[in-house]
Amino acid sequence: MKKTVSFFLIILFLISCENTSTDKEVSKRKPNSFAIVIHGGAGGIKREYFTKEQQEAYVQKLREALDAGYKVLENGGISLNAIEAAINVMEDSPLFNAGKGAVYNSEGNQEMDAAIMDGKTLNAGAVAGVNHIKNPILAARIVMDSSKHVLLSGKGAEIMAKKYGIEMVDSSYFFTQKRLNQLRKIQGKEKMQLDHTAFLIKNELIDDHKYGTVGAVAIDKNGNIAAGTSTGGMTNKKFGRIGDVPLIGAGTYANNLTCGISATGTGEYFIRTVASHDVSSLIQYKKLSPKEALHTVLFDKIGKLGGEGGMILIDKNGDVYWDFNSTGMFRGYKKSTGESKIAMFEQTK
Ligand code: ASP
Repeated sequence: MKKTVSFFLIILFLISCENTSTDKEVSKRKPNSFAIVIHGGAGGIKREYFTKEQQEAYVQKLREALDAGYKVLENGGISLNAIEAAINVMEDSPLFNAGKGAVYNSEGNQEMDAAIMDGKTLNAGAVAGVNHIKNPILAARIVMDSSKHVLLSGKGAEIMAKKYGIEMVDSSYFFTQKRLNQLRKIQGKEKMQLDHTAFLIKNELIDDHKYGTVGAVAIDKNGNIAAGTSTGGMTNKKFGRIGDVPLIGAGTYANNLTCGISATGTGEYFIRTVASHDVSSLIQYKKLSPKEALHTVLFDKIGKLGGEGGMILIDKNGDVYWDFNSTGMFRGYKKSTGESKIAMFEQTK
């Protein structure tokens, strides 16, 4: 009898240790609460580069994307479905550098990358260098759900997407005159350009590179976090170049123990710093707040190397964060508490 009691006590002790271990810290999230945050790229986004109408067009599209994702969460849908819904809206708009609005590489073609990650299971899927898939984020989900792999590129990714009924398009679907003009201006120069980096010469706006990569992070009513990102990459990138977006841990990461993240910016720097995973690790192991972790990676690491961009984040408590070391970032969030915001320019919470 004594033995049984002490065995029972040991088990109780072990369970209590488990519950107080650092990774299992109690979440401060309110039961059934949910939230979504999105971005539409970061870069040289300044108020003076936009007319009122252009600003309104961005705000409207960002709101549409937020609402699409929010609706899924409100109806009890999972965070993976919510971020897909939000990203699809932005992929279908020529305003952003993803799907329909993807930028051109140096050869005059689009090569798109996308990734999705499930913070509950740490499952992930990604595609790279595709140019016949209307919504690359859906193909990333197929890779995650229906293959043993994490990242498929080019033809293999397209064959898989087609097999699973993802909408395929002729590459001419991605033609936009604006994007072609952007390419023509820097083609032949050993220079890649963040899509949304506009520049002024003699006070004249030389290019309207104001659109960017898209991403979303959501937490659903069950507290599960998902993150996804979709992009055309960078104007004038070399044929075959793969950016940070489809590399899990660089441009996209989700882990229920910490947070979900989607990044945008000069991809090579986000790859070299393994940026999204680094933010998650700083929160998990160094106990930094999400705000501190984002700032450390964007300013002390990426910024110091010469990289530019931003990140959006939702932590396990359902709190939303963003930060960027560029002049602006298209962004917005919506929470079940009723709080919502859409912003484009200088830093605001
Ligand atoms: N990070 C993307 C890439 O390097 C570009 C962007 O965020 O606009 O492919």
